[in-house]
Order: sequence, then C-alpha cells, then structure tokens
Amino acid sequence: MNKEVSLKVKAKFVNKLKGGYPLISKEAISNVADLTDEGTIVKLVDDRNVFIAKGYYGKQNKGLGWVLSRNENISIDQPFFENKLKKAIKERESFFNSSDTTAFRVFNGEGDGIGGLTIDYFAGYYLLTWYSKGIYHFRDDIIRALQGLVEWKAIYQKKRFDEKGQYIEEDDFVAGERGEFPIIVKENGVNFAVYLNETAMVGVFLDQRDVRRTIRDSYANGRTVLNTFSYTGAFSVFAALGGATKTTSVDLANRSRSKTIEQFRVNEIDAETQGIIVEDVFHYFKYAVKKQLTFDMVILDPPSFARSKKFVFSAEKDYKNLLKEAIAITAANGIIVASTNCSTFGMEKFKGFIADAFKETGERYKIVEEFSLPADFKTIKEFPEGNYLKVVFLKKIK
Ligand code: SAH
Repeated sequence: MNKEVSLKVKAKFVNKLKGGYPLISKEAISNVADLTDEGTIVKLVDDRNVFIAKGYYGKQNKGLGWVLSRNENISIDQPFFENKLKKAIKERESFFNSSDTTAFRVFNGEGDGIGGLTIDYFAGYYLLTWYSKGIYHFRDDIIRALQGLVEWKAIYQKKRFDEKGQYIEEDDFVAGERGEFPIIVKENGVNFAVYLNETAMVGVFLDQRDVRRTIRDSYANGRTVLNTFSYTGAFSVFAALGGATKTTSVDLANRSRSKTIEQFRVNEIDAETQGIIVEDVFHYFKYAVKKQLTFDMVILDPPSFARSKKFVFSAEKDYKNLLKEAIAITAANGIIVASTNCSTFGMEKFKGFIADAFKETGERYKIVEEFSLPADFKTIKEFPEGNYLKVVFLKKIK
C-alpha cells in the first residue's frame, strides 16, 4: 500500500538514532526533499546505506516523524499496531482494574512506541489524539486494532494537525454509541465531568493526578488555597475535599466559572463557599498585594505560552517572575506548588528559576515534594524531552 522512502541520516545523528532516539528531526536528514506524502513509511539509513530504523513521515512541531521499529523486515500494518497497543494495555492493568480511578492514559506516544498518538480512557470511552496527518493516515489499522483488544462504549478523536498544528474543531465522534456529555469519571475517588465532544481540552489534565492526590491527602487541610490558571478548578476540588479552609480559583477564560462550578457540584461541594474569579492572574496578584491578602498555599500551573490582553507569558522567560508574584502573597510556612508542562527546559533549569526567584525576593524555601509524569504517561530514557511535566512543592520558611 505504502511506498517506502529511504532517508539518509547525517553522520553526526547516526549514533543517537541507533541508540534509541525516536524522533526523526529535520536537521538529521540530508534528503528531506524526497518526502512528499505524510504517512509514507521511511527507512533511515547511514551514508553507506546501512539500515538504522523504520518509521513514518508525519510533520509535527517536533520533527518530521517518528521511528517505529529497528527491525528492517517488519511491516507497519494492523498486527504491528496491535502488538504495540496490547503491550501498553497490559502495562495499565492496575488502572483498568481500579474502581477508584476511571480516567487514565492508555497509550503515550513515543513512550509506548508510536510517536504522534495518544489514547486516553474515560470510563469506557476512548479518546485518540492524532498529532500529525502522517499518523492519522494509519487510523483505520490503529482503531481496528484497539477495537479488537478492549471493551469500549465509544471512540472519540482529536486531530491536532491542521496547518498551524492546532486542534481541528469537529464533534470528534468515531464509533460506538455517542456519549451523553458530560460523562462522570473518577480519579482517586473524586468525580470529574468530562466532555469528549467540545474543544481540544476535555475538562481535566490527567497528567496531574498524583499532584492532585498529594494536595488533597497531605497539604490542603486547614489551608487557604489560591489556584491560579485554574481552568476547570481540578486542583481546587481536590484541595476542598482535603479540608482546605477556602479555595480561590483564578482563570481569565469566561468558561472557567461555569466549568469550575460544575466540578464542585459533581463532588457535592457548594461552589458558593469557594472563590471563583475570572481575571488575568497577573492582575489578580496586584490586587492581592494591594489588599494585603495572603494564602497558605498558592498553586501555579500556567500554560507554556499564553497571550492575554495585557501580558504575554512564556514559561521559559517569565516563570521566575511568576514565582516572585506568588512568593509575595504566600503566608509564612505556606506552600507554593510550582508546575510547568514546558518541554523546552528540564527540572534543573526549573529549579534554577525557583532559586533565583527566592534569592531576588530575599525569602527562603525548602523543596518538600517533586513530581514528573505519572506511570500511565510512559516515557523512555532515550527521549527525556518526552517527560515534560515538572512539579515542585516549595515551603516558604522564615
Ligand atoms: N491548572 C489547570 C490547567 C491550566 S490550563 C488544571 O490543573 O486543570 C491553562 C489555563 O490558563 C487556561 O484555562 C487559560 O484560560 C488560563 N490562562 C492563560 N493565561 C492566563 C492569564 N494571564 N491569567 C489567567 N488565566 C490564564
């Protein structure tokens, strides 16, 4: 069905790809012009035409495609995908068997052997996210493989690959019986209302599961909590259930108010007792300083990049300043949860931002907790940039 194209790997990239690096980057290939159709199977070879790996062509911000196998004779077909999915599903057995948690990642891209594809599970519903036209080309084989391996109520998909690498708006239904949204999923006993048919975001970011549980079980009790960039208020719900005196959620998106009220409601928490503020976080910080408000816990979970009317925020450039704003309104012995999903820097550099922010404010701190991606977001050591999540709990000390 597919014609194969040989891609010549430049000498200085050969060892990296031989060693298991899964991303086919543009600068590693000398004959990029031979690529025409996304979904083409590519054979990576060195300058003497010796086989290195097999993969597919699919343009993603990260590169030209992904390595799928180091076996020259394997065909990329339904049985191939079935094997990859089967292994991933087996590794999530404890999640499938849990009645406490019914939302998790079943397949995590290159971590599970197929870059450009993730599959999430939401109480019987499967959500596939395609990150390039190239991987979408294999959708029939992949979906059939999945359908043969699991019980499913319905399958939904998100396409995140139009010209700008953005989400393509559709109702996202693929097969089965259409869900009635929201569906209610559970995470460590807590309910979440989830919508698979609306936007690129479904209501909850599953990668913060362990962080939410830790906030509820070990930090929230008796504390006032400010949750910034709060989206649907997932951290606030866990904090409230963990005994927080009061939560305040701040997000500039209008939808965040009704979405947050809904998440409180499905957990039988009266949203009237909590603060929900639709406002630019940076504006709110100024207000809080002026009113001399302080919080026992401040959660920072900004997007890697965001533009609001007044501010442009880039995690790499501005995280230090964000921390300084948070430090100013954190009570003595209070906790700051500093989180970022920015993949352009690692934990070391992130801790550097933290150290600089405290130094410049003349305050002291202690790191009390650290997180990266949870087990279901499987990553491989050959591709450390795939482990994008960095969360550090800091205690402000006197
Ligand atoms: N912390 C959330 C996820 C955050 S998603 C959770 O755990 O679910 C990023 C959110 O930041 C979006 O909801 C977006 O509306 C919001 N946002 C982006 N820039 C902002 C700003 N300057 N002030 C307030 N909210 C902002």
